[in-house]
Amino acid sequence: MPRIARVEPLTTARALRGPFDYRLEGFAGAVGVGTRLEVPFGARRLTGVVTGLAEESEVPEEKLVPPLRVLPGVIPPDLVALALWMADEYCSTPARALALVAPPPGRGPRTGLVATRTLTVPEGRLTAGQRALLDALAGGPRPAAELPGSHDSLRRLEARGLVSLERRELAQRSLGAFAVGAAAPVARLTPEQDAALTALAAATPGEAFLLHGVTGSGKTEVYLRAAARALAAGRTAIVLVPEIALTPQTVARFRARFGDTVAVLHSALGEGERADEWRRLAAGAARICVGPRSAVFAPLADLGLVVVDEEHEPSYKHEGDPRYDARRVAAWRARHAGATLLLGTATPRPESYRALRRLVLPARVDSRALPPVEVLDMREAATALHPETRLALGRVRAEQGKAIVLLNRRGWSNFVSCRACGNVWECPECDVALVLHRGASPRLACHHCGHREGVPERCGECGSVSVARHGTGTQRLEAELAEALGDPVFRLDADVTARRGGVARVLGAFEAAPAGILVGTQVVAKGHDFPDVTLGVVLDADQTLRFPDFRADERTFSLVAQLAGRAGRGPRGGRVLVQTLDPAAPAIAFAARHDADGFLVTELARREALAYPPFSSLIRIVCAAPAARDATAAAAALHARIAPPGAAVLGPAPLFRLRGRERAQLVLKAARRREAIAAVRDAVAAVAATRTGRAAAISVDVDPQ
Ligand code: ADP
Ligand code: ZN
Ligand code: ZN
Repeated sequence: MPRIARVEPLTTARALRGPFDYRLEGFAGAVGVGTRLEVPFGARRLTGVVTGLAEESEVPEEKLVPPLRVLPGVIPPDLVALALWMADEYCSTPARALALVAPPPGRGPRTGLVATRTLTVPEGRLTAGQRALLDALAGGPRPAAELPGSHDSLRRLEARGLVSLERRELAQRSLGAFAVGAAAPVARLTPEQDAALTALAAATPGEAFLLHGVTGSGKTEVYLRAAARALAAGRTAIVLVPEIALTPQTVARFRARFGDTVAVLHSALGEGERADEWRRLAAGAARICVGPRSAVFAPLADLGLVVVDEEHEPSYKHEGDPRYDARRVAAWRARHAGATLLLGTATPRPESYRALRRLVLPARVDSRALPPVEVLDMREAATALHPETRLALGRVRAEQGKAIVLLNRRGWSNFVSCRACGNVWECPECDVALVLHRGASPRLACHHCGHREGVPERCGECGSVSVARHGTGTQRLEAELAEALGDPVFRLDADVTARRGGVARVLGAFEAAPAGILVGTQVVAKGHDFPDVTLGVVLDADQTLRFPDFRADERTFSLVAQLAGRAGRGPRGGRVLVQTLDPAAPAIAFAARHDADGFLVTELARREALAYPPFSSLIRIVCAAPAARDATAAAAALHARIAPPGAAVLGPAPLFRLRGRERAQLVLKAARRREAIAAVRDAVAAVAATRTGRAAAISVDVDPQ
């Protein structure tokens, strides 16, 4: 029996770095790696997680104390190891990383009466209500609370021996919504699907693959069959999707194929539901977990397969501390479990394209061609819509068809200014212009911090009442299209998705409508399958190109290609129009030719020449403080301390003020990732302990998006 437990206290204080040793006297056998303990810590009591066991401690015997008690909810040891790796990899703390893998809070299992039909007894005469009850049980046991009819009628059926009633643990799941809309199993695989599955079946433990398949090429069917094979081998599977609300079809198909073996973990679940799903996974009652990035922490043993669907999606990167990338975490889990890693997309990231073994699905399953893409030069245009776009939208309307229009800017106008003095309305907390939103409560809003204020009557600088609105956002486009075309126009953007169920409501309305236009930001390009959409339009395709980010081309290519994937999925075919100020930009030209390989080869060459990822690792450090000089001083102090071999340190560069804080950033471009991360970790720890460091908040982002 090991005598000593190494315990990591679960506190957010960075200064309190464990692990701390505790004497296990009196707890023999009850404590292992992953056990949650309540421990005395000075005068306080803390919750901690056991991260290791040992025979000896460096702490003098008389100073060692035992824990107070064992808490319920054990973290599987492999997830403890994962958390410790994450803490290191993302310059965070073990406590914060352990919080991500810990069981969700929630009461114990909810129990209730469950009715089961007893088949052995002749039924005799039944009332209509009794008949309905028995019919409802034909598919298997069900909670009494879900059945038609009263408790009394159930008791009467029990008395007759037709039904047995038993108090049991109830799942708190409300996943009914995912049971609809699932396609029937596919009768015959395409030769390419077959080849992909053959390659997966022959994979060596821990091998990673890229499933590069155009939109509609049947990638999900490959995931389903690979998961079935993992289950048949007695193993388990994790399937990551970018966002549950946007991918109800994927969840539905897994539930239709595997039933209750599927657990779904996502943010719309209540606390109890989430805790239930977690328990079902940990107990082996559910063996497939489908969910967004946090589902990568599913407590599954014997992992055989990890799928990351739409692997190009930025939502796989977590923006809180630790700033983990679920794709990298998925790779770690797969490697350590000897599971197969399968990243799927129509628009692979250059990183995956270069590093992974590729399985290709080159065509749509129904052999339908991808829609032709026309690039429209906007340099001479005077209006938001190119004449060709107007014409095409008019034609869709005349044919009572459907179109999707992407404009990556929400709100009514980009900014408002005073016509007399030129004053631009800006956020008081951030150095950015406020965006005008109209509707029931017109307002100016900051898209960075959420600040909002009323629409001004007059200029605060000069008193003029003449206010100009500049640019077009999705709200204005919605209004203008509705007026010009008279068609129903549906809008999907963050203003709509912020409301619970907003996405499903808008997508459902668009699907049900006989004709119409869906207008929105990037979300309209994501994975939806509407066979009657014949036109896709991208307005201002350079908007993402103009981002000062080395991923700008990658983002633009994937946005255009993904939108093209939404059009022409039905028998009527379709076309795509791309409005741009830069028609020759490689990202746009390659997307117009549906040439992902061409784009990736060119993009990888560019990245190699500039030593950008995947040919280096980037680490971003942001120092924020109320006063600009404190932010810059902290960044300069870090710069002076970070000298990893083979890495360039850029900065300190000022960033725009955000949430009332001035910011300065450093960016490391490192050839040797591990050493660079270690150097940053040491420098941050050292500087944070100085007066300069304490004057600023320091945050580290490894692989920033
Ligand atoms: P992707 O995920 O690559 O966009 P899906 O897996 O959603 O493509 O497949 C598109 C459609 O084709 C789905 O309705 C799916 O059921 C169907 N499908 C997939 N594989 C086949 C096949 N081998 N034969 C016929 N239909 C298929
Ligand atoms: Zn003015
Ligand atoms: Zn703001």
